[in-house]
Amino acid sequence: MQVQRAQGTEDLYGPYMRSWLKVQHVAGRLFNSYGFDLIETPVMEQVDTFVHGIGESTDVVRKEMFRAVSGAILERVMENGSEKGLKARQRLALRPEGTAGVVRAVVEDNLCPPGSSPVKFWYASPMFRGERPQKGRLRQFHQIGTEWIGAPDPAADAELIILLMNFYYELGFKPEDLVLRINSMGDDSCRPTYRETLRKFLMDDEEMYASLCDDCKVRAEVNPMRSFDCKNPHCQELMVDAPLLKDCLCDECKEHYAQVKKYLDQVGINYIEDPTLVRGLDYYTRTVFEVECPKAGVGAIGGGGRYDKLIEICGGKSTPGIGFAVGFERIYLALQELGVDLAGDEIGCVYVACAESHLRDKVFEITHALRSAGVRTECDYQARSLKSQFKQADKLNAQVTVIVGSDELSRDVVTVRDMQSHEQVEVPVADIATYITSN
Ligand code: AMP
Repeated sequence: MQVQRAQGTEDLYGPYMRSWLKVQHVAGRLFNSYGFDLIETPVMEQVDTFVHGIGESTDVVRKEMFRAVSGAILERVMENGSEKGLKARQRLALRPEGTAGVVRAVVEDNLCPPGSSPVKFWYASPMFRGERPQKGRLRQFHQIGTEWIGAPDPAADAELIILLMNFYYELGFKPEDLVLRINSMGDDSCRPTYRETLRKFLMDDEEMYASLCDDCKVRAEVNPMRSFDCKNPHCQELMVDAPLLKDCLCDECKEHYAQVKKYLDQVGINYIEDPTLVRGLDYYTRTVFEVECPKAGVGAIGGGGRYDKLIEICGGKSTPGIGFAVGFERIYLALQELGVDLAGDEIGCVYVACAESHLRDKVFEITHALRSAGVRTECDYQARSLKSQFKQADKLNAQVTVIVGSDELSRDVVTVRDMQSHEQVEVPVADIATYITSN
């Protein structure tokens, strides 16, 4: 039997891995300049962390969360026929997104007590969602994200969006490749009234309610705003006439939103106001945003928003927060579509070629000396002919080949060949590492 990857997962190596490293490198440098520190939370969390942190009514929690069950617990679940009877700490899931885990860490370790300065974290980590795999939609994918906790100021919203757009630009997107959509989802003082208005819109007309898709029938009761996200064409048509939150925002939310837009205008970031943008997760308040690369056709390549209630929901003191997440695989696909090479050149090396088999020990010694000096060094381990060693050196993208031959060794030198110009020089064996590292 041939073993296979799990459905919707990928192996990252070669140019794909170099691209992933590049994205992390660019993020690390750029996010650092905005004061964000790297965080790595566990891949596995208690189910409750996501139920509270993402929202019980979301698709991510209801349908897409991968559960993690150890062998011993699985036996108990099978015996009982359900997870009932398990303790909270035994009910585990693989993280479907990054915010819930970071917020859990901030609350658990009291990293942002009331009155303290905001904390800023970024992450680059695998996420897991049990979605139907397709282009740009995987079951294990990678997100680069930021969380900025403790900053209610609309400047934080604007700066985070600016950071996000600069991140895309540094990766190779041009402003005209991207569409940034923004919206305000209101807060506790205006959203409940609006939700009720929208719920009535969806439910009061019996005929209309009956024509909704099954998901929207549930959404209408639990979280009617989610119906703006419905992919069903009939529901989409009905939602065109739905009342909009922008017409119901309270004065504070209106003012906050106006400030965010003012700052974006100030630095010349283009955006489209989309009053139907609600984002998939339950926790957003006020500013939400999403970025697409229309030419690429892979859906959203990133998005985020403000979550001023989330910390409290997760057991902390009332603390505002805002963040974004960007999907690596979709960025990779989009940049490919735009003809931008994210991977960059293959890494070079020095190849130590063995001209005669009895000199193998000398090759071992020189290879060791080069590696000790930090040089990526390769040689032959299959007793190949000198000709095929040169071929291998080319394949390995060697910039330089060190040829170890008995004639030269009798004079305590080796030949160093530049693989591009084919120029050759003789270098004393004792100086080879210094020569390579200084040229
Ligand atoms: P979300 O947390 O759903 O807002 O996702 C943030 C970003 O992660 C999206 O804009 C996508 O770029 C990416 N993303 C979300 N789900 C997937 C998936 N199943 N496969 C690949 N990328 C994804």
